[in-house]
Amino acid sequence: MNARLFPPTRAEATARLAAFLPHAGKTYAKLRNHDPGPDAPSHVSRLSPYVRHRVLTEAELVRAAVDRHGEGPAEKFIQEVFWRTYWKGWLELRPGVWDAYCEDRDTARIEVAGDSYLAEHLARAEEARTGIDCFDHWVRELVETGYLHNHARMWFASIWIFTLKLPWELGADFFLRHLLDGDPASNTLSWRWVGGLQTRGKTYLARADNIAAHTGERFNPQGKLAQEALPLDGPLPPLPRPIVPGPRLGKDGGRTGLLVFDDDVDVQDLSDRVAPVAVAGVSSAALRSDVSVSGQVQDFVAAVLDDSLSRFSVPGARLRDQVMTPHGVDEAVRDWARDHALDRVVARHVPVGPGRAVADRIARALQPDGVAFLQEMRGYDARAWPLATKGFFPFRKQIRELTAALGASG
Ligand SMILES: Cc1cc2nc3c(=O)[nH]c(=O)nc-3n(C[C@H](O)[C@H](O)[C@H](O)COP(=O)(O)OP(=O)(O)OC[C@H]3O[C@@H](n4cnc5c(N)ncnc54)[C@H](O)[C@@H]3O)c2cc1C
Repeated sequence: MNARLFPPTRAEATARLAAFLPHAGKTYAKLRNHDPGPDAPSHVSRLSPYVRHRVLTEAELVRAAVDRHGEGPAEKFIQEVFWRTYWKGWLELRPGVWDAYCEDRDTARIEVAGDSYLAEHLARAEEARTGIDCFDHWVRELVETGYLHNHARMWFASIWIFTLKLPWELGADFFLRHLLDGDPASNTLSWRWVGGLQTRGKTYLARADNIAAHTGERFNPQGKLAQEALPLDGPLPPLPRPIVPGPRLGKDGGRTGLLVFDDDVDVQDLSDRVAPVAVAGVSSAALRSDVSVSGQVQDFVAAVLDDSLSRFSVPGARLRDQVMTPHGVDEAVRDWARDHALDRVVARHVPVGPGRAVADRIARALQPDGVAFLQEMRGYDARAWPLATKGFFPFRKQIRELTAALGASG
């Protein structure tokens, strides 16, 4: 695990937020697109591995930025945080886009395996042997640190799709295997956006002069990059389906077990309301890809869950039974529920992605014992996600109202 750059604790995340806050105003708006490299002080927060798993919530980031700078000067930072919320809502409204991505990724993997030219080029890309210095550097940086600057991710994805002409799904998968913040929504939809599938027909072309200008001239891939970016072809996304947040849970459901999924490890308020007698963590990190997810990612997620479980208190409960991994999780949760004679198991709403598949398996495993599996959606998600029906521009118009609505439970 990359404990040096991203120690997997809430203590580190809050310290990092506090240190970054003075820069979250006008400086961020001006410099956030510059990537000085992993060894130089950053102009961005590098908080995404924490926000991805809700070690820190979006609400905490927004509130802190507003308190420090006021809404005007913090506008850009707040907007970027809401990009994450927007992507999450967009995918939640259209789960079929994640399923289609997984299917197309598997198909692409089979096609590449049967085509020696493509297979060699994919290997060169993943092993930092393309001869395009900046790209090869980003591959190494990603694999070593588990993180890339947003602009580097955009250049990377554009070069992967339009210069190297590799299937976008395998690039998205490479990210998900190595990013500590690997997220089904932000990642899949950003790759689709670069390729022209998300905002139909609008692609992102990486340009050598733009890379040189924003990397402090560390790189200048003149003459090495594609000069045009023709949009990829793909089916239109399905129409948004309704999001049904469900009721708030209370103490009245009998003996309760609380499952903490890696999508949202911040569960103290839920725990206070449902008074669990047992608590356990579930990591679905190993399922972010159909092939092996990096040990660094899996260790980070397990440690973040561990930190969460050891941090919050449940009077009388046997805390931190274990952090379960997807292999055999159905039986493990069923046995855990039997051991504690549970009447119900509760969790935060598990969003679209590998965690959702695990949650569905758990629900099925508990059913024969008559143990209910209930998920509760956060107020923040229930308010914001249904607004992601169209593009980011109409969503952005609601940010002021969403910010004003941030309550203590955000
Ligand atoms: C091709 C591609 C793939 C990406 N894959 C992921 C991914 O798997 N997981 C992930 O969390 N982000 C992903 N992003 C979005 C973005 O690059 C990262 O969230 C950002 O780099 C995080 O760095 P930071 O915390 O320093 O951001 P800051 O600039 O400090 O922003 C603060 C917070 O706002 C959110 N945020 C900022 N920019 C974006 C953005 N463009 N989209 C969504 N949220 C944003 C993040 O939660 C971030 O922690 C991807 C972007 C691209 C172009």
